[in-house]
Amino acid sequence: MSEKFILVGKSLKEIEEFMLNNEQSKFRAKQIYNWLYLKSVKDIDSITDLSLSTRELLKQKTELCSISIKEKQISKDGTMKFLFELKDGNFAEAVLMRFDNRANLTACISTQVGCPMGCSFCATAKLGFVRNLDTDEIIQQIFLIQADTGLKVTNIVYMGQGEPLLNFDNLINSIKIFREQFQVGARRITVSTCGIIPQINKLAELDFQSTLAISLHAPNQEKRAEIMPVAKKYKFDELISTLKKYTEKTGRRVTVEYVLMKDVNDSINDAKELALSILKLKSNVNLIVYNQNEKSPYKKPTKEAIQKFKYILEASGKKVTIRLERGADIDAACGQLSSKMKK
Ligand code: SF4
Repeated sequence: MSEKFILVGKSLKEIEEFMLNNEQSKFRAKQIYNWLYLKSVKDIDSITDLSLSTRELLKQKTELCSISIKEKQISKDGTMKFLFELKDGNFAEAVLMRFDNRANLTACISTQVGCPMGCSFCATAKLGFVRNLDTDEIIQQIFLIQADTGLKVTNIVYMGQGEPLLNFDNLINSIKIFREQFQVGARRITVSTCGIIPQINKLAELDFQSTLAISLHAPNQEKRAEIMPVAKKYKFDELISTLKKYTEKTGRRVTVEYVLMKDVNDSINDAKELALSILKLKSNVNLIVYNQNEKSPYKKPTKEAIQKFKYILEASGKKVTIRLERGADIDAACGQLSSKMKK
């Protein structure tokens, strides 16, 4: 039997072609397109303005998604974690969070199965690298979250499993689809990288208008190389100067992500050194409190250390936010749920 045509992820033109090839009118394609991207319809039968025979045809020859929700966990704070099963039996994860502003719903999605970057504090790194997700698999994470919850995702962060810039074409394609088809504004999309310099330059050439977040996590080369192997290839100073050029070219401020870990990178000296390193980089800082778990040797910093760290950066003129631990009672740190499934 031939493979079914997967609908979610397809452009209007592709759906039109499919409909024409199946002796259906082009007009029907637009109806399907709207149900997919504006209403995140749960199943074909819910597309009520299509005739019974068209729905039957769609059920025979198409599928909404190639991935499915395997497991969902809901935290006391409302954070939801989704584990998706892919067609080849692999898994990918996404997290849905609601921050203080009740109107905003942020989904954190994955771009790879596992990750090759090996950051020492990251659960995903322990899975190793399996493969890149294709564009459809990236798109379908948001579609399924919306279909499952009935809610509209307003902000998308590429901060789940994997290094997005190592899956560059699918990253750029998926952003295009989120913007054009899901109607999520460019400024509401954030891509987080551990610092792949040639790809940051590529984003600059594209005049990238979404937010670039850089997972810095250390104030200097030595400390960074200890916890992030990527720093051995792409050095700290070269990364900062690449980011400076990026901000000049795009006119966009970057977000410096810094996960605070007790006695690793949370001292007053670390804060001072970080402030100096990024002083001339047009940036905001997002401090992330380490999501402590029993399998990791790293610990959460004290409240006092977090406040001091923040104060020092603010005194240097940076706008600093602290990302609170979300979903502490579920496996919300990326990779935690997948590692359980892998066992
Ligand atoms: S922190 Fe990000 S880049 Fe580093 S290993 Fe984990 S998923 Fe990969």
